[in-house]
Amino acid sequence: MASRKILLITGVSSGFGLALAKEALAVGHTVVGTVRSAQARRDFESLSAAAFARVLDVTDFEAIEGVVSEIEATVGPIDVLVNNAGYGHEGVMEESPLSEMRRQFDVNVFGAVAMMKAVLPFMRERRRGHILNMTSMGGHVTMPGIAYYCGSKFALVGISETLGKEVGPFGIAVTAVAPGSFRTDWAGRSMTRTPRSIADYDAIFDPVRKAREEKSGRQLGDPQKAALAMLAAIDADSPPAHLLLGSDALGLVRGKLSSLGDEIRAWETVTVSTDG
Ligand code: NAP
Repeated sequence: MASRKILLITGVSSGFGLALAKEALAVGHTVVGTVRSAQARRDFESLSAAAFARVLDVTDFEAIEGVVSEIEATVGPIDVLVNNAGYGHEGVMEESPLSEMRRQFDVNVFGAVAMMKAVLPFMRERRRGHILNMTSMGGHVTMPGIAYYCGSKFALVGISETLGKEVGPFGIAVTAVAPGSFRTDWAGRSMTRTPRSIADYDAIFDPVRKAREEKSGRQLGDPQKAALAMLAAIDADSPPAHLLLGSDALGLVRGKLSSLGDEIRAWETVTVSTDG
């Protein structure tokens, strides 16, 4: 394997975070994982002598810098940050309160940015590091019923790509990892679902909600294989700015790029009519 690294992964209690932590430990990396309970901390640390856990909710913005500094001082230099903690809000936009949008962005966007801001001074000083942000195919394509989620992931994709351009000259890579549908707790215990209230949306949205509930646990993607793919990106000399995971993500994002290209061409005359 390539060099042994220290990974800081947010949200290692289940899903991608736990799968990546296990695969990283198996190849000799050290993993510091964040969890949200004392029990989850004990469970994670029982995996290996190289598994360290810290209790941290990523929306506890005041606490983040202190936790990162303490990890740097006691475990060692963080080579790789994986902003994995996140959840999905599901609900028709008109029905979903703004408070749900704030919460979605606090966790999926502000939490991830706060983590990046905390590790960057250390990585910049060392002139090396890699940040992986778990975005989603929902950061490239949209589906009815997850406007807040897609909005949060589009935001994280944009921030991730921009940051990569800012810190690339310091030897720090930033990768936005965009999975399709995977068998994690995302659409199960972790999802927040706004109750239905406007009958007009029954026809468009009820089948979407039902299908997602029924598919939970039976999605196409295997989180362990996603973990191996992320480890390949972590080992790469030139990590990608964007990494799609899963054939569903590939098909949907390619389709989006193609229809976007068609629409740009169809309106090109109007587009260029505004110069001068
Ligand atoms: P998961 O099994 O539900 O895991 C989510 C993890 O995030 C859990 O460890 C959870 O901790 C943690 N978390 C949630 N809110 C947090 C907060 N405020 N502070 C700290 N930790 C928090 O689902 P997953 O699919 O592995 O999700 C990981 C990431 O992948 C998310 O960003 C998700 O949006 C993204 N993603 C998932 C899919 C998919 O199909 N599964 C597809 C695309 C992207 P607790 O156990 O304490 O709740």
